[in-house]
Amino acid sequence: MMEVVRIPVLSDNYVWLVHESGSGETMVVDPAVAGPVLAEAEKRDWTITQIWNTHWHPDHTGGNEAIKAATGCTITGPRAEAARIPTLDRLVSEGDTVSLGAIEARVIDVPAHTAGHIAYHLPGERVAFVGDTLFAMGCGRLFEGDAAQMYANMRKLEALPDETAIYCAHEYTEANGDFALTVEPDNAALAERMDKVRAKRARGEATVPTDIAAERATNPFMRAGSVEELAARRKAKDNA
Ligand code: ZN
Ligand code: FE
Repeated sequence: MMEVVRIPVLSDNYVWLVHESGSGETMVVDPAVAGPVLAEAEKRDWTITQIWNTHWHPDHTGGNEAIKAATGCTITGPRAEAARIPTLDRLVSEGDTVSLGAIEARVIDVPAHTAGHIAYHLPGERVAFVGDTLFAMGCGRLFEGDAAQMYANMRKLEALPDETAIYCAHEYTEANGDFALTVEPDNAALAERMDKVRAKRARGEATVPTDIAAERATNPFMRAGSVEELAARRKAKDNA
């Protein structure tokens, strides 16, 4: 049995605290900071045994050192970014498997936002932790890679089952949806989704996780028909 707890930190980051009751293991995805994460685990009487990082950016790894010092946990992250994440204990890349108790995650390489960005797919749980690669109605900025790589990432992620819950690392949904509406003003599924998103945000509620079916229907980057189209949309969003 897996439980996922959302911990909102910094201005718009989500840290995911994941507990597997069979083994008693608790894992943190991309701890931007340590304090609120340790406090949330303590409140639930959970001991953090692992951290899984998706990429090196400080708003995903900033809590690594302090959480490891407090708990002795093991930190797993992208092999290609080992030099930029000195706290890593285990280096992984596409095809590797990472376990949390009885739960298995497959590592998927999704370079573009950073050169070694990875995602973790938990097929048995119908869950994926995607960091800053796929957002609700958006994708990560192309800091260290190009549109061709992000296009390939979208193909890998859209191939996951419809119901796969997508846990991304930021609450960017409303701004992404506003941009998506400029790209596809006649997309009825998008308009309908944005009505719900606006209502949720007005109540101060989170809009993450999303799922693959919703992204296939509304995400202008997943829906881009070519590398060039994705590139043009990414550039337009960067300048929006
Ligand atoms: Zn990032
Ligand atoms: Fe980030």
